[in-house]
Amino acid sequence: MTQTPRIGRKKMVILGGGFAGTMMANKFAKALDLDEWSITVVDRDNTHVYQPGLLFLPFGMYRANDIKRPRNALMPPGVDFLVQPVEQVDVDARKVVLEGGGTLEYDILILATGTRTAPEDTPGLKGEQWYRSIYDFYTMEGAVRLGNHLADFDGGTLVLNVVDMPIKCPVAPLEFVFLADAFFTERGIRDKVKIIYATPLSGAFTKPKASAALGDLLRRKNIELVPDFALDRVDEAGRKLVGYDGTELAFDTLVTIPLHHGMDAIKRSGLGDDFGFVPTDKHTLQVVGHPEIFALGDGTNLPTSKAGSVAHFEGEVLIENVLRFIDGRPLVPDFDGHANCFIETGHGKAVLIDFNYTTEPLPGKFPLPGFGPFTLLGESYTNHWGKLGFRWVYWHLLAKGEELPLDHRMLMHGKWS
Ligand SMILES: Cc1cc2nc3c(=O)[nH]c(=O)nc-3n(C[C@H](O)[C@H](O)[C@H](O)COP(=O)(O)OP(=O)(O)OC[C@H]3O[C@@H](n4cnc5c(N)ncnc54)[C@H](O)[C@@H]3O)c2cc1C
Repeated sequence: MTQTPRIGRKKMVILGGGFAGTMMANKFAKALDLDEWSITVVDRDNTHVYQPGLLFLPFGMYRANDIKRPRNALMPPGVDFLVQPVEQVDVDARKVVLEGGGTLEYDILILATGTRTAPEDTPGLKGEQWYRSIYDFYTMEGAVRLGNHLADFDGGTLVLNVVDMPIKCPVAPLEFVFLADAFFTERGIRDKVKIIYATPLSGAFTKPKASAALGDLLRRKNIELVPDFALDRVDEAGRKLVGYDGTELAFDTLVTIPLHHGMDAIKRSGLGDDFGFVPTDKHTLQVVGHPEIFALGDGTNLPTSKAGSVAHFEGEVLIENVLRFIDGRPLVPDFDGHANCFIETGHGKAVLIDFNYTTEPLPGKFPLPGFGPFTLLGESYTNHWGKLGFRWVYWHLLAKGEELPLDHRMLMHGKWS
């Protein structure tokens, strides 16, 4: 068993080299004196996937290679990047235990381990029909296989089901059905495909104004909304979804958004709630009960969207608070739950929503009041170009920890209430 000695520089360890971990490594490498601090990022593999791009793979708009990069190429000079699964965190000894037994001591720990889908938790979901008539698109393998399936799909009932909340990017399932509508229309077979959107929510989305606007879009695109659908099991042989109340939904192809969990290493460390999400102060991003640990991204239990934009806004508050913690100054309760998501609606258009813990998505213009160029809670071609441009912004600015000319707090300028 190797052990890193606690000598010389103080140690920051970042668990997870996905979006949030990579961004924070880049930010801390600029903000900390690397003669005084070492920064080590750990991830279990060296492939960083641009997850928003997974939405486009099933429709042939991107290929797998368009959305992958080596993680180490995104790390800044002076940061150590280790490819090794984390077994658990020993919070009393302040060390991270790696698979194989190696350990990393820390003075400050940043948790950015994200979330994983768990199709195995729903009876019948990951059985014989998995990747035959049942697909996911939240994993690279699922998105690629679904793409192959849809290329040959010539008609029938396609059901998209969100098993339960919370999920990553809660608008991605809606985007999927909007893009499916456009895809089948462009292939000339829309009249042969019934598209159903079955959700545990009472409408198309969580917040009333967005739910009404997006529900209206579903109607206009002839996509059937099945609200309040609480999935109990999948009847594989009968190709049916069965709800807890006995409601049945037949499918030819099922696209599932499975249950989401926090990571097992977090659960093993006693740092997670019942689902493995890290209890985190919703305004300071300090982990509850562990002053030297901070968390951001999909792995927290915060009541906002699990989205890259959220991790980006969190990053600005997290770095400020870690620097304050190091200096012994009080933390600032500055994170307001700000989320900002483009929603692809098909045929070259998209909607943009901007909201936080207390303010629901409202119509208006973003980021410049009265001008935009983006339209809030309304479709536009410019929004779609914003969504496509996000990939470049992700790799070159966000993951690199660069500042954007956007406030981390949600602003009311340009919004009509
Ligand atoms: C289909 C889809 C569409 C999306 N669209 C958008 C969008 O349009 N806009 C947007 O803002 N967001 C979008 N998102 C969400 C966005 O991708 C995530 O919110 C973002 O990646 C979260 O970053 P993270 O660092 O918290 O998690 P991740 O990027 O998932 O990183 C977590 C990292 O932790 C590592 N890890 C976990 N456990 C261990 C362990 N035990 N040992 C070692 N390493 C470990 C993982 O390997 C992973 O690299 C989308 C997501 C999906 C799936």
